[in-house]
This record gives sequence, structure tokens and C-alpha cells, in this order.
Amino acid sequence: MTLDFSKYNGLIPTIIQDNQTQQVLMLGYMNEAALQKTQEENIVTFFSRSKKRLWTKGETSGNFLKVVSIKEDCDQDALLIQVIPNGPTCHNGTTSCFAEEAQLPFLNQLEQIIENRIKTQNSDSYVASLFQKGLNKIAQKVGEEAVELVIEAKDDNADLFIGEAADLLFHYLILLKAKGFGLKNVETVLKDRMKNK
Ligand code: AMP
Ligand code: ZN
Ligand code: ZN
Ligand code: ZN
Repeated sequence: MTLDFSKYNGLIPTIIQDNQTQQVLMLGYMNEAALQKTQEENIVTFFSRSKKRLWTKGETSGNFLKVVSIKEDCDQDALLIQVIPNGPTCHNGTTSCFAEEAQLPFLNQLEQIIENRIKTQNSDSYVASLFQKGLNKIAQKVGEEAVELVIEAKDDNADLFIGEAADLLFHYLILLKAKGFGLKNVETVLKDRMKNK
């Protein structure tokens, strides 16, 4: 690489392309340290302009970008990296940040995110650390959130009530996943019950 990091605040725009489909997945920026880490680990690390630190794509989602090749452009101020993505690249759940593909309904997206977090076993992730504590702890958490919701139902603070409803739904999804199920299974049971009415 003969990139000149002394220009443009030391940031090189980096296009990420799927090695198999050729689809452009995202654009990020690399400083010298990001490129070095990427080359060492063969996993894409950017310099995040918003976080103002090195950012390994997938560090919380588990959706890492495995490097296949790194090319610089004609005048050494841009990079093209071909990758094998581990899951959707966009944090909105789409394969590509530029894709128009249909989004999963939100609760299904959330189920997928929970599944990814569990897979990473990253202790920074609340879901991963709760999962590691085991089924009893997860079930207990659902019980606690249900009780909190009941308590808030008796009051008339709408924010607290909705907040606890969200907590319960979230932990309920984690418990379903921990038992090897998902919303789809619950949906099937509910639909069957409707047929029998
Ligand atoms: P990740 O690197 O996939 O673990 O995601 C961590 C955080 O980085 C997300 O919560 C987003 O704020 C951000 N992020 C992830 N993927 C992208 C992306 N493709 N483009 C921009 N920001 C992203
Ligand atoms: Zn150029
Ligand atoms: Zn995106
Ligand atoms: Zn709660």
C-alpha cells in the first residue's frame, strides 16, 4: 500500500464490496491504524468519525466483514475491500447500506439482533451476558419484568407503563430464543386457537 495518510485528515474512504455477489455493502473511513488492524486481523476495522475511535464492524452485532482482498484506487486516496460478510452489514438489518430490500418487521429484526448478540458471547452485550447466566436467570428476569408491568398498570404514569411493557417484551423474546423458539411458534399456536373458535 502506498496510501498517503497525510492528506484529508488521514482518513481514506473505503468501499466494502461482497466478494461473491459484488454488491456494494457500505462505505467507511480508515486511518492508518484502522488499515493496519484490518490487515493484521483480516477483519475490517474502520475509524468511526462519529465514535472518534477505531471501530471493528461487527464488534457488537457479530456481523464482521472478513477480508478477501484490499485494493487502492488509481491515485492512492481510496480503498476497495472485498469481503465475506457475516450477516447483514447495515445496522438496519439489510445486506447492504445502499439496498432497498424489504425490511423485516421490527419484532423479527429484534429477534435476529438478539440471536446475533447471543452468538458473539461478547460480555459488553447485555443480551449475551444475560444468556450466559442461563435459562433460570432469563426466566426469572421475565418474571420480574412482568411484576414491574403489573405494578405500573395500577399507576397512571404512561411512560413507566410502556417502558415496563417494552422490558417484558424484550426479555420474553430472549426467553423464547433461549428455549429454542421464536415469535413464529407463538403465532402458530395463537392462529390454531382462532381456527378452533
Ligand atoms: P456493529 O459494528 O455492527 O457491531 O454495530 C455497532 C454500531 O455501529 C451500530 O449500533 C451502529 O451505530 C453502527 N453501525 C453498524 N453498522 C453500520 C453501518 N453499516 N453503517 C453505519 N453505522 C453502522
Ligand atoms: Zn482516488
Ligand atoms: Zn447502513
Ligand atoms: Zn423493567
